[in-house]
Amino acid sequence: MTSISAIYPTDFTTAMHKLLGPEAPDFFEAQAQRAPVSLRLNPAKTTASPEHALPAQFQPVPWCDQGYYLQERPLFTLDPRFHGGAYYVQDASCMLLSAALKQLPEWAQAERVLDLCAAPGGKSTLLKSLLPAQACLVANEVIPARATILAENLTKWGADRVVVSRNQPRDFQNITQGFDIIVVDAPCSGEGLFRRQPEAIQEWSSAQVAVCAQRQEDIICDIWPALVEEGLLIYSTCTWNPQENEDLLAALQQRLNFEVIALDFDSQWGVHGHDGLYRCLPHRLAGEGFSLCILRKKDPREVQRASRSKSAKRQRTKNKIQPPQAIPKEYLEWLPHETASLWCEDDTLYHWPLAHRPFLQELQQHLRLVTGPLVIAQARGKHWIPSTAWLLSACFNRDAFCELPVDLDTALQYLYGEALPVSAQTAASSWQWISYAGLPLGWVKATPTHYNNYWPKPWKIRQRFPAIDPEQNIRLCLPVHAVSGPNRL
Ligand code: SAM
Repeated sequence: MTSISAIYPTDFTTAMHKLLGPEAPDFFEAQAQRAPVSLRLNPAKTTASPEHALPAQFQPVPWCDQGYYLQERPLFTLDPRFHGGAYYVQDASCMLLSAALKQLPEWAQAERVLDLCAAPGGKSTLLKSLLPAQACLVANEVIPARATILAENLTKWGADRVVVSRNQPRDFQNITQGFDIIVVDAPCSGEGLFRRQPEAIQEWSSAQVAVCAQRQEDIICDIWPALVEEGLLIYSTCTWNPQENEDLLAALQQRLNFEVIALDFDSQWGVHGHDGLYRCLPHRLAGEGFSLCILRKKDPREVQRASRSKSAKRQRTKNKIQPPQAIPKEYLEWLPHETASLWCEDDTLYHWPLAHRPFLQELQQHLRLVTGPLVIAQARGKHWIPSTAWLLSACFNRDAFCELPVDLDTALQYLYGEALPVSAQTAASSWQWISYAGLPLGWVKATPTHYNNYWPKPWKIRQRFPAIDPEQNIRLCLPVHAVSGPNRL
């Protein structure tokens, strides 16, 4: 067996011994094991098979209702449900955020939530699933290519009440209606990834830790004015060292006014820490590295929440919302039952909560939005084209269109971007939605000879996997059922 000193930098080993004391040998032993595979279901789209029917190899993640471990890692690319946003592949430790949110009365009351460092979307999809009914979510990522991936993942998850922006933290200081909750899942030295990405070990150094800690301090100070008084900033990293955790909090105490919130996690889960700073460590629980703390803003210099809501109300009354008059009659039957949140602009039909329209206008004015309000349909000439984002969202009106259920091979053909053969019985020159295992995937439009494929081109599966049998592969995936039933809106 390779010795610890041959694998890890001495500074890292020393720091972990200092942090963990007698637990350190168990930690290093766990680091030598394989990282667990886990995923989180999308409760708006799927549920796991009932517990008695769930094969034993799929164990639930104790701190997250929707989280499950998989014994083997399937090729998720060959599972159509992965593309349809049925689940998100996520390390179990990161799901601790869901157990934290459930303890916060502020979360249930939140109206505006910001995920500041959001790509590729693990925390944003979790936040979206738990988002209170009255709230909207801004998911931000500063790096353009990563922001595109974030937008794709959130669209597949269901992006009603969500916008994706591509901004620096300080840009949010222009938003006058502050955020009630801001999540800063900060770029860090990545110690908690060492098991899954051994190359991260080579990039680690004490100097790099110091650079990360300074960047984290800058990010938090830059975003602080965008948080309302009494608002919560949830700070997390996938690293353990005190410089990016305790020491950072001490540095922030010098510059900002806040209290650290104590959380209460079930002692059986094995979460390390108390008094506000919590760590997931691989020898204590089945997951990778993750650290979390929550700050409540106590800063009377900031504009009060109440006065902000007043100005929001003033703006709301000034802003007369137009009904979707521009939608031709024949398309009205497409619409969700609740139409107050719809409006038409530049030949596009949008959906966004009425109460958040002034906030949306502010976001559009001050930020670079990668995706704005949910697009329901866009006009092309005399016709309207329903959007994939709508189909994948919770406000899709399933009943207005014909469902085209397909098997695994056909679903993959569709996701490869191929046209599908049309059978005489099903031919109809209208929009139809492809479903796999009850889950909406995307649009097709029938012609006399085939179905035209409307799966977005950038999302197409590009690689072929001739050595893998899709049917066998899908048996390694968690058995899930699509959530059906009436539209939510
Ligand atoms: N929250 C994400 C998730 O759960 O999938 C992971 C976020 S990752 C740990 C940190 C993100 O911060 C990266 O996507 C990175 O591009 C972004 N980032 C890097 N430098 C930044 C900065 N100076 N300000 C804000 N975000 C930054």
